[in-house]
Amino acid sequence: MRAAVITKYNADWELKTLPDPRPSAGQVVIKIAACGLCGTDLHVHHGLFGLPLPIVAGHEPVGEIVELGAGVVDFKVGDRVGVHWSQKGCGRCRVCQTGNQAHCAQAQSWMNLGGGNSELMLAWASGCTLLPEGLAYEAAAPIFCAGYTVMSGLRNAEPKPGERVAVLGLGGLGHLALQFSRAVGLETWAITGQASKVDELKAMGASDVLLASAEPGPAMTDAGGFDIVLSTTNASKQVSSAMGGLRRNGRLVSMGVTTDGPITVDPMSLLLGQRQLRGSSQDEKSDLVEALDLVAAGKVKPVLETYPIARVNEVRERLKQGKVRYRAVLLH
Ligand SMILES: [Zn+2]
Ligand SMILES: [Zn+2]
Repeated sequence: MRAAVITKYNADWELKTLPDPRPSAGQVVIKIAACGLCGTDLHVHHGLFGLPLPIVAGHEPVGEIVELGAGVVDFKVGDRVGVHWSQKGCGRCRVCQTGNQAHCAQAQSWMNLGGGNSELMLAWASGCTLLPEGLAYEAAAPIFCAGYTVMSGLRNAEPKPGERVAVLGLGGLGHLALQFSRAVGLETWAITGQASKVDELKAMGASDVLLASAEPGPAMTDAGGFDIVLSTTNASKQVSSAMGGLRRNGRLVSMGVTTDGPITVDPMSLLLGQRQLRGSSQDEKSDLVEALDLVAAGKVKPVLETYPIARVNEVRERLKQGKVRYRAVLLH
């Protein structure tokens, strides 16, 4: 099979031919149709996770099952599926035994089995989810990381009817968070530092767009404050400031991989305003299915740039430069 292989950190990924994978018990082989390129792939590229090389990245893969390992009974050859990050836990620890395999500290992912930047991909059957009928592969791909993450964040914020939401950070994750929040009927503002995105964000359904600086808190308060902030920014400083833009009993859900140090919070603001700061990642499987259904129903439209996998290095640089609107998907 052909694959884009990371052989060295901070260097171009190499398009190579690798042996076709064969499924062990409980695994499937998927012929990949599309795979999204996520901000986290840049961290992989730079060696943040310290993975042993060579490795094939890609954690927003979708395609068709072409082979089943022994004992796979829930899926059949020809099924259209996608694979999310955390595919299978150890099965035996307390987390797994309480039904949360995806949150197991030993959970296996593309890091163990290889990712979707390849013609064929190995996956645990427990990590596969059927695509709704009629949903195009390229629209489905970004839901397996970006969409899943932000739908869990929205659900974990426990929104009530009539509450006011702000989405902070409007890239691959944020543009989906904005649309999911609107699709479930919530007034939702976009908070971005990029004036060039204002019209696009309004076209995506933003109730309003707030142009904000590295410290958006005061502008958020001036705009009336927010019950929920869905934060996908990579800047801890922005998250810290946005805590000040929460209304009383407000919740900020942080979903971005921040690399500029800790989030700082004024304890008196938490106490007197009864505010909450929480993190959220890909959580309940039902969040993923809900997100896929909203896209299949046309209520949420991922905004995509699509490229053939052969252009992976150019696309990764485009992502690094912040030029992608709003998710790049590699087609096979
Ligand atoms: Zn991702
Ligand atoms: Zn476990």
